[in-house]
Amino acid sequence: MKTLKFYVGLLLLTFIFSVYTTFANTLSEKEKAGLQLMREEEKLAHDVYTVLYEKWQLRPFSNISQSETRHFEAVGVLLETYNLEDPAFEKPGKFKNQELAALYDSLVAIGSETLVAALEVGAFIEEVDIKDLQELLDAKPESQIATVYENLLWGSKNHLRAFTRNLSMRDQEYTPKVLSAATYSEIVGAKQQPGCGGNGMKQRARRGCNNGGPNCRNR
Ligand code: MN
Ligand code: MN
Repeated sequence: MKTLKFYVGLLLLTFIFSVYTTFANTLSEKEKAGLQLMREEEKLAHDVYTVLYEKWQLRPFSNISQSETRHFEAVGVLLETYNLEDPAFEKPGKFKNQELAALYDSLVAIGSETLVAALEVGAFIEEVDIKDLQELLDAKPESQIATVYENLLWGSKNHLRAFTRNLSMRDQEYTPKVLSAATYSEIVGAKQQPGCGGNGMKQRARRGCNNGGPNCRNR
């Protein structure tokens, strides 16, 4: 009798657990599409920066492309967790999402013209990323997804600051193309922290105030 009770209890627990996990793994179509979009958007960033690094040999492109690989992988883990189809092709520059495919072609073409254009392409990609991630976060995804999106957003803001700084070092002022001027300056201005010293972006950049530096934490 004791054994029977044990098995019934175990069965019940298994049942509750499977209902729970099935339920937990159910995402809305919008949430699924969001994850798949981000997977390819991170790939786009990575693939474009890789080409631009080969072309211009400028360090930020290689550093940032490595960070995009980590973002890409983080979204990949979520796709697996939720048992979703992975849209990403292995081949660089190839995308399932046709808008991203067209964007890749035009951004590589523009960024190959001059180094300044390449840095502007970088800032533009980060703006798109920030806008999409913010929209996805506004829809209040469940915590595991929200955590990844927040990390990606944090990274994108750092990248946007890095590209802005590199343009500023070349006496180029970046004008936001996707985000509002207010949102953009809020993000870029967030870099100004005690310890980094200096007033302008250019001064701070000359001091090597890069992402993650001891006195240059963004958060
Ligand atoms: Mn990213
Ligand atoms: Mn980025």
